[in-house]
Amino acid sequence: MTEEEFNEIIFQKIMDKELTICETCDNIFDYVPQKMFCDECQREKINARQRKYHEKYREKILARKRKYREKNREKMNAGKRKYYAENHEKINAKGRKYYAENREKISARHRKYREENREKINAKARKYYAENLEKMRAKARKYYEKNLEKMRAKGRKYYAENREKMRTKDRARYHAKKKTSN
Ligand SMILES: [Zn+2]
Repeated sequence: MTEEEFNEIIFQKIMDKELTICETCDNIFDYVPQKMFCDECQREKINARQRKYHEKYREKILARKRKYREKNREKMNAGKRKYYAENHEKINAKGRKYYAENREKISARHRKYREENREKINAKARKYYAENLEKMRAKARKYYEKNLEKMRAKGRKYYAENREKMRTKDRARYHAKKKTSN
């Protein structure tokens, strides 16, 4: 039987609904109503569908896990806050000890952080300054008024101790002014 003859027979059987050609791979299989794919392709399709389903499911599971973690994070944070409130003396002592022992490492880390985040930090400081200027001024005024005598005494003491330095400074400022106004 030639290939052509064979194909002719197959074609005839397909027309007679004895055989079907798989729509995806050209495998030939016994005719079953509504069946358009060979077993392999059918299995592959089911697997693909299952994979897809599992992917979808995985997303759902991950979302649920995230949600759970978020819910628990609040609980965990509350627990941490409570622990801190109850143990803050111990924690602070620990922190001081750690800081004393790792001062160099910590300052290096802070320096690095500041260098890397200079713009962010400056912007934050500017914002804080703008938002709290009045408050800070009022606080300083209040403090000054409350401690007027102490502040005056401090000023007098400072002036007495730094008289020469300040006079030199004043003279320098005076001469600088004179120079720029000329
Ligand atoms: Zn197939």
